[in-house]
Amino acid sequence: MAEVALRNIQKSFGGAKVIHGVDLEIRDGEFVVFVGPSGCGKSTLLRLIAGLEDITEGDLFIDGERVNDWAPAKRRIAMVFQSYALYPHMSVYDNMAFGLELAKASRSEIDARVREAARLLQIDDLLDRKPRQLSGGQRQRVAIGRAIVRDPKVFLFDEPLSNLDAALRVQTRIEIAKLHADTRATMIYVTHDQVEAMTLADRIVVLNKGRIEQVGTPLELYHRPANLFVAGFIGSPQ
Ligand code: ADP
Ligand code: MG
Repeated sequence: MAEVALRNIQKSFGGAKVIHGVDLEIRDGEFVVFVGPSGCGKSTLLRLIAGLEDITEGDLFIDGERVNDWAPAKRRIAMVFQSYALYPHMSVYDNMAFGLELAKASRSEIDARVREAARLLQIDDLLDRKPRQLSGGQRQRVAIGRAIVRDPKVFLFDEPLSNLDAALRVQTRIEIAKLHADTRATMIYVTHDQVEAMTLADRIVVLNKGRIEQVGTPLELYHRPANLFVAGFIGSPQ
């Protein structure tokens, strides 16, 4: 579990600035949802937090330590993408074990962690299968399982439900909420789906063109949107 603090975070690609000074404090165990239109910088912010992109300017803190120069593995952050990105030639078990093997965990520890995560996600009976033998929802659970086994302090989700059909979206959303309740891990979750944001979030961060428009609880944003942009996004009549 961890606090995450962004102080004046900026990001440029070449000459083009896409994140314009984001300040945000995320509490230990909080579930924060980023919403905003396509291209506003949601994925880039997650990638900066995960360490998959270099921060151009500003400071990123995890549990009070400045982590700008830390490698992704050292940050103990797990990222779940919309495309499942499982290794097609490996079994579910091996997909989940892979990150731990890279981290040189012992065989018995790997086994215990994989089986515990599989139980939590109810995929125990799928461990010998290959990804192509799984449904979309099962694959997404394996992707989440692969993140869980590494016992991350922070989970980042980038539109994890967008490739699923409507029924599976609801079911997986409920599972993610349960995962949060069970682990009390800090979670940062990107979506453009208002229902997902309203039901999952402790707080919602509304982004527009690389800046924060407003941060608040779902009810605060719904009843007191700071401007028309937020109102349009959260769907309050205003
Ligand atoms: P979102 O996830 O909100 O749709 P992104 O974070 O993917 O938005 O993108 C924000 C902006 O940064 C967009 O204008 C996008 O084109 C640009 N961008 C993202 N990644 C790169 C990259 N690797 N190189 C250049 N521009 C990028
Ligand atoms: Mg994106």
